[in-house]
This record gives sequence, structure tokens and C-alpha cells, in this order.
Amino acid sequence: MIQLYQPLNFMGLVYREVKQAIIDIDMMSAILRSAPEVQDRPGAEALVVSRGHLRFEDVWFRYDPKRDILRGVSFDVPPGKTVAVVGPSGAGKSTLSRLMFRFYEPHRGRITVDGQDIAGVTQSSLRDAIGMVPQDTVLFNDTLGYNIRYGRWAADEAEVAEAARLAQIDRFVASVPEGYRAQVGERGLKLSGGEKQRVAIARTILKAPAILVLDEATSALDTFTEREIQDALDRVSRGRTTVVIAHRLSTVVNADEILVLDKGVIVERGTHDGLLERRGIYSAMWNQQREAEAVADMLRGSEAGD
Ligand code: ATP
Repeated sequence: MIQLYQPLNFMGLVYREVKQAIIDIDMMSAILRSAPEVQDRPGAEALVVSRGHLRFEDVWFRYDPKRDILRGVSFDVPPGKTVAVVGPSGAGKSTLSRLMFRFYEPHRGRITVDGQDIAGVTQSSLRDAIGMVPQDTVLFNDTLGYNIRYGRWAADEAEVAEAARLAQIDRFVASVPEGYRAQVGERGLKLSGGEKQRVAIARTILKAPAILVLDEATSALDTFTEREIQDALDRVSRGRTTVVIAHRLSTVVNADEILVLDKGVIVERGTHDGLLERRGIYSAMWNQQREAEAVADMLRGSEAGD
């Protein structure tokens, strides 16, 4: 009996393994179906950027069919202006930047740059026109110079140095023995989050895109680094159409318009002062953050006094 049982048991094992493999293939194709890579449409032409006017027109989007993430979002970023998007975690802020880059496409509505629907242009021309400073910059395992020059390969040494100065990473470069030739990454220098972000800013300054998307880091930076990065970002966004995905309200005060996004809907919009006067969600968020900062300052003060 045992002799008969063993092969059956083995067959059972094989059956389970094969079944699991089939389930894995099914799951994989479901994942691939749910995240299809956005392709250029036949005959897509290059985006022609004249002034860098960005518009979202009644944009609806969902990652999966059961839940709308953006529900009828419309806004306008006139050439050279800055619009900041704030709102609770999960509101859909970073999703806006993914749609601008066309990692995904809206299910309804459209996004235009200088009147051209971005769904109908080539992705390469769109990504040339938009510069992104992401939340977490991944550096290449290469030199510091390579990582900055990645913004524009044709840049000469003087241009790289100027971009580094504007991004306030020049003093860091000067402090390492090999300067721009220093290796970074796994087998080289380890850069802090703030240093990496400044390399990304220098890269974007070299790229000089018509439209800039800043996805602010959620991770806490110390106040000094934060101020330095803010200065660098202010410089790169000056006179350039900019969308700031903001996780800290202190960085949005000077935006031309602030959008408060909640559960995929713009629930308030206006300038910083206008929104404070309204005493709605934005002013509540502002007061809450101010209180949190005051407590953090107090704690730092008592630590320093110990
Ligand atoms: P945070 O401030 O925390 O970064 P956010 O406002 O930027 O949040 P998004 O990253 O845009 O939020 O995410 C919006 C919603 O979409 C979240 O509920 C998130 O779980 C969901 N989501 C994000 N990416 C995907 C994805 N690839 N597949 C499925 N759901 C996703």
C-alpha cells in the first residue's frame, strides 16, 4: 500500500507545483494587463513646446477598476508660473506627476502642453520637455560628473560647474578628493538624501526643461539642508512652468496657485493668503503643521540644553 501511496503522493506534489505555476502565470498576465506600458500612437508626432502652458482638463484616473484615484481634476499652469499641489497622504498627488510623464493615461479628460494632448505626442519628446526632480533620486554607479551631466551630455565642464553651483552641491564636490571624478553609489561615495537631491537638481538645471515637476521628498531633512534645497529649487523653477507636489506646506507659500487635493478631487484652490482667510482644510493643515514644528523646535531646544 505504501508503495502505491508514494508515487501518488509525488504526483500530488507535481500537480500542486504545476497548478501554482499556472496561477503565477495568470497573476503575472493580470498584472501586465493592469499596468500596460503606454505606447506611442501610430503616427504620433513630437511635442512642440512654445511657451510651456500645462493644462489638466477634467482628468479621471484609476489604477484598478474598483477605485477612482483622480476624479475630474482640472487646473491650469500658465507659462512660467508655479502651481503647488497639497493634500493628505494617498490623495493622488504623485499620480498627477505620473500622468504628466505618461507612465499612465487618463481614463477620461486630457492633459495638454501648449494646446497639444500629450496622449498624441511621442513619449520621448514629452519627457524631453519635462524635467523631474523625484522624491528619491537614484544615482548611477558612476562619477559625480557623470551623474550631473546626465541632464545634458553635450554640456561642457563650465556648464556642469555652474549647474552644481546653482544647485548648491559645488561645496560638497570641492570637499571630496577626486571632485567630479569621484565614484558614487554602491562601491563609491555614499551620498545623503539631501546631497542626492541636489545632484538631481543640478542635472535638471543642465537639462533646462520647459516644464518642471518637483516631487518633494517626504523624508525629513534637517532645517539647514531643507533651506539649501529650497533655495536651489527656487532658482531652477524661476520663470519656468512648475508643478510642485508638496509634502511640507512651508515650500508652497510663494506658489501662484495652491491646489488642495483630497481623495482625488480639488477641494480648495487659491493663494496661500487667500486659503488661510478661508479657514478651510488648507488653513487647518497649516496650523497643524505649525504646531508640530513648534513642538519639534521645543524638543530640539531641550535636547540642546541637556
Ligand atoms: P503621499 O503624499 O503619501 O505620497 P499621494 O497623494 O502622492 O500620497 P499617490 O501616490 O498619488 O498619493 O497615490 C494615490 C492612491 O493611489 C493611493 O491610495 C495609492 O495606494 C494608490 N496607488 C498608487 N500607485 C498605485 C499603483 N501602481 N497601483 C495601484 N494603486 C496605486
